[in-house]
Amino acid sequence: PPAVTALDVTKVYGSGDAAVHALRGVSVEFARGAFTAIMGPSGSGKSTLMHCLAGLDTIGGGRVLLGDVEITGMSDRRLTLLRRDRVGFVFQAFNLLPTLTAEQNILLPSQLAGRAPDRAWFDQVIDVVGLRDRLKHRPGELSGGQQQRVACARALVARPEVIFADEPTGNLDSASGAEVLSFLRASVREMGQTIVMVTHDPVAASYADRVVFLRDGLIVSELHEPTPGTVL
Ligand code: ADP
Ligand code: ADP
Repeated sequence: PPAVTALDVTKVYGSGDAAVHALRGVSVEFARGAFTAIMGPSGSGKSTLMHCLAGLDTIGGGRVLLGDVEITGMSDRRLTLLRRDRVGFVFQAFNLLPTLTAEQNILLPSQLAGRAPDRAWFDQVIDVVGLRDRLKHRPGELSGGQQQRVACARALVARPEVIFADEPTGNLDSASGAEVLSFLRASVREMGQTIVMVTHDPVAASYADRVVFLRDGLIVSELHEPTPGTVL
């Protein structure tokens, strides 16, 4: 099955006259080992869709599956476990703990989950992300791009089935953003990672294999294999 499947997903915030129909019947599949960008204007439902796909938010109607596991109607407790075991997140704010080193930040989720980190895999991730000489540094001693690469490495080391990235380059200058995007693409190409990235930046989206466009809570078009560097 695809890594993530949405079937006719709807989401309404509020009710009556104040109701906002954030998603109005979204059906989309995200293949394993693919890097997909979700684009659309502000307010088109990108964040809402990502939150619904990741089990961070409940949906009004339709179905969401992670792999072959239906998450629709799952209890909060089961959802929390499922996210911990199968899903990784990268946000606009890097969300690193300032008192821990880069290495400690990267290994924290495995430790919290009570899993011994796989050292060979850790080494592979660190080499792809290019952080070997920064592992003992604290976030305050790293550039924004390096901090976001630490956050990406933290998501990858846990070997999630899918990584959801919400505007991962939103706080970065274009050179640092390009570093992070190259690394995300490398994790797809070299490690088979599945990534779903929300962005309003066409340059960021051009790193993806596929771009899905949202407008007013509906998918309105799709583009496959945009060439990196093209402005969509
Ligand atoms: P995007 O990420 O594309 O900017 P969002 O998913 O954040 O879009 O928002 C989609 C629509 O839903 C917008 O009209 C937004 O104002 C509304 N919305 C989002 N979150 C909430 C919320 N928690 N309560 C009420 N309305 C919301
Ligand atoms: P993004 O920049 O990712 O689209 P926003 O800045 O629009 O996110 O929203 C930040 C948070 O506020 C999100 O958790 C979103 O669900 C919530 N939110 C967005 N729009 C509204 C709204 N109209 N009413 C209440 N909460 C909202």
